[in-house]
Amino acid sequence: MNSDSVAMTDLSEKMHKPETVCIYGTGDFGRSLGLRLLQSGYSVVYGSRDPKNSLLLPKGSKVMSHAAAACDAHVVFMAVQREHYGFLTSLASGLEGKVLVDVSNNLKRGLYPESNAEYLSRLVPGATVVKAFNTISAWALQFGGLDANRQVLICGDRADAKQQVVNIAQSLGFTALDRGSLRAAAELEDLPLQLFPLWRLPLNIAICLTAFIFFYALTSDVIYERVTNGKDIAFRIMISLANKTFPIVSLVMLSLCYLPGALAGFLQLYNGTKYRRFPDWLDRWMLCRKQLGLLALAFGFLHVLYTLVIPIRYYVRYKKNVFTISLVKDNKTYEFDNTMAWRVDSYYSMGMLGFGLFVLLGITSLPSVSNSLNWREFRFIQSKLGYITLLLCTTHTFLYGWNKFLKPSSYRWWMPPAYMLSLVVPCVVLILKLILITPCVDRSVTRIRQGWERQGMTSANGRDTKTSHPLIA
Ligand code: NAP
Repeated sequence: MNSDSVAMTDLSEKMHKPETVCIYGTGDFGRSLGLRLLQSGYSVVYGSRDPKNSLLLPKGSKVMSHAAAACDAHVVFMAVQREHYGFLTSLASGLEGKVLVDVSNNLKRGLYPESNAEYLSRLVPGATVVKAFNTISAWALQFGGLDANRQVLICGDRADAKQQVVNIAQSLGFTALDRGSLRAAAELEDLPLQLFPLWRLPLNIAICLTAFIFFYALTSDVIYERVTNGKDIAFRIMISLANKTFPIVSLVMLSLCYLPGALAGFLQLYNGTKYRRFPDWLDRWMLCRKQLGLLALAFGFLHVLYTLVIPIRYYVRYKKNVFTISLVKDNKTYEFDNTMAWRVDSYYSMGMLGFGLFVLLGITSLPSVSNSLNWREFRFIQSKLGYITLLLCTTHTFLYGWNKFLKPSSYRWWMPPAYMLSLVVPCVVLILKLILITPCVDRSVTRIRQGWERQGMTSANGRDTKTSHPLIA
């Protein structure tokens, strides 16, 4: 054999020999990861405290002591809880030059002063630690991420080490997202502990608003009738009161999506710059607008469903029959009221158009749809069409109330009818928007958003990019 053919054989052996990956820990995560690595063509060696009794391991993998397992592998996954990392100190010399992948999570936030990955790096200083895979569950690993999160977040201090982990993630069918240096590990470790962080505020608003409007309507409708006329109309709770509460919550929450954008515009005008930081509450409010909007849409949807059953309700059919019979008995004619026909048709028309646009806003906020829109298209739908939706839904409510606000009988126990409450925030938002789009104000806001600053602002505030929020409507 000449030297060329020896080199070729070496190369072909190298090309065909599967890369060996070591996994410390034969628990749930270690087993799922090992199975997936084997399926993707890697050779897997487990490092265990008790190699002889590790029975449930995937077929084709090897198991040995920790020290022996790491010998042939360049990448070692730490599928062991942080509390047990202590055993690594005795293996530090054998792990020198290796890439240690920290997949660990904690049970609570703030349990330790430093992240698990930084702690690991301190325990084995000769190895390069990369934080990855902690946001992927053992279940998602087993089922190939087909119906679960497919994104592996990675951080670490060395690019070559991160690249090796990226290659593994990609060959397992995941997408990798570089989140920077190992200092970002604490943030990655906090991610699995979060419980709907962006939904918390919108959900709290929705629950409080629903409870408030429901009890308001209960008092002014059901309790009032019971106390003053002795009539029991509690059955109305099921549909009438619910269908009074849902549209009000929906409209108020829709307007709450647009209020922070308008407030931000005024704040920028007041500050004379877009580089001054918004107050934290406004920042948090802006960040959860999508969730506010989706919840508002859900309430709007319930309103539509409840409205559809009105004609088949026993109470409605009963009232209609009694009315018709009384007309017949008294030999009276029910005159056609042209104004009423206009009012009712316009009321339904505004409601349907508003709901149609509302659904469009909801659909375009889904990542799969919004990804196919450019920034201008997205802004056009979410901002311009959003305000039109708010205007249509507010008009729908005005037409519903019509002249009720003029009738003293509508003010039970001096409480204005519930629909009037729902108009306060939308009207404020629409008035603020109207001011913002008047040419002279709009010119100033546009200039500020393009980077212009009032004299003396730069030196006074310094630049803070946090204010340049992309979604200011
Ligand atoms: P697990 O089922 O409890 O397995 C942990 C393994 O660690 C054990 O099987 C054991 O393997 C090893 N071990 C236990 N005590 C040890 C000690 N004193 N010294 C050395 N090794 C010890 O836990 P897991 O669910 O696989 O989780 C492992 C790691 O992955 C954790 O850090 C967890 O936060 C992380 N993680 C898990 C998931 C998940 O879905 N399960 C998701 C993301 C991240 P041997 O008996 O073979 O030594």
